[in-house]
Amino acid sequence: MVKVVLGIIFLLSGPVTFAQQEDSLFIRRIANEILTNGRSYDNLRELTKKIGGRLAGSTQMVMAEKWGAKTLAQAGADKVWLQECMVPHWLRGGKDEVTVKGSPGRSLQVLAIGNSLGTSPAGITADVLLVNSFDDLEARKDSVKGKIVFYNYKFNPQYIDPNDAYEDAYPYREAGASRAAHYGAVAVMIRSLTGSTDNHPHTGLLKYDSINPKIPAVAIGIQDADWLSKQLQQHKRSAYIKTNAHFLPDTIGHNVIGELTGSEFPDQYITVGAHLDSWDPAEGAQDDGAGVVHTIEILQTFKALHYVPRHTIRFVLFANEENGVRGGKKYAEEAMAKKEKHLLALESDGGGFTPRGFGFNMKAEMFAKVVKWAGLLAPYGGGTLIHGGEETDISPLNHLLHIPTAGLNPDLQRYYDYHHSSNDVFEIVNKRELELGSINMAALIYLVDKYEL
Ligand SMILES: [Zn+2]
Repeated sequence: MVKVVLGIIFLLSGPVTFAQQEDSLFIRRIANEILTNGRSYDNLRELTKKIGGRLAGSTQMVMAEKWGAKTLAQAGADKVWLQECMVPHWLRGGKDEVTVKGSPGRSLQVLAIGNSLGTSPAGITADVLLVNSFDDLEARKDSVKGKIVFYNYKFNPQYIDPNDAYEDAYPYREAGASRAAHYGAVAVMIRSLTGSTDNHPHTGLLKYDSINPKIPAVAIGIQDADWLSKQLQQHKRSAYIKTNAHFLPDTIGHNVIGELTGSEFPDQYITVGAHLDSWDPAEGAQDDGAGVVHTIEILQTFKALHYVPRHTIRFVLFANEENGVRGGKKYAEEAMAKKEKHLLALESDGGGFTPRGFGFNMKAEMFAKVVKWAGLLAPYGGGTLIHGGEETDISPLNHLLHIPTAGLNPDLQRYYDYHHSSNDVFEIVNKRELELGSINMAALIYLVDKYEL
């Protein structure tokens, strides 16, 4: 009996080594510091309320760069600089409008999709063709010419991970315009990529192909999408659509970089970052203001605890993730040109919700090492470590230089309620949930700095 009991205790707790105890105590100090003296919530308030939406090329993005450089310096960076890159300059250009004609008529909640081109100033009036999927589009291809195609493809509620529903519906927003233009459509409307119940439209990125006409595209709120879909099942309906979007020539943007110099290996780097830009209609609080303030908080915490890293840690606020990833590409190109050695790049781009863990894009033998740290992260919520996942800003580091990458995985159940929508504002971020994200990220950076990969 006694042996069995001892066996169970051993299995539950495992043998605790001195190193693990030391790590566990240091991570506890990280947590205490952030939960007591953290600045991330106040920093997020400043970024979202004083600056707001910050699309590449906008004056708000320039303000955000200055804010980022100042805040990194105040947090204690040894060095702060701006890394220049050319960025696209897309402008919404005014209020996007869709009115369904006839009885009952209705003005829909819409947003032009990012990187789409506007209608003429007079707008377009045409019959609306409902399609529920790309297969449906193919089946009706002979009826598309001259119509506004309405893609009513739903965010699939059966996926437990909302990222899976997003990836599943993503091709409609990205490629729906060109695919409909191929059969002669004059514009497209797309059901917003969200499982939310409200009527906010959600924008995001569109990519035109090089072959077909570049027709206007809007995302519509899902209550309006449901209404319109019902209407179209009963009668033929036409709609008036007017959008104003256009491009100005590419302009100069910057990654904002702060550095904490390593004591033993100053020329070996660990990168941690998030994207500073956001879509224009929102404050970009969850996407990705949260990641920005997570990043800065790690720096501030290491300084407060007088932690001197062995390797140089770079805190990077990336430019232009949303409609070009030019910042992430520039950072990787420069790392490659300078033959920099990077141990790991970590990104936070899933919002400031309660952390659940991390996803790692690295070789199996590296992941085997990392997964042993789960027990150290678990008390702070971040113990679910997954082999896989890709983060946009740091993916060029992985593709060009084969640098291992990781992403913070917060609880995403509410993320797509706000993503790329006007309700992504400071008020929806919870201070404590946000702080828990920084704790787990700081702990992971500390472990990589100490043990390497
Ligand atoms: Zn993002």
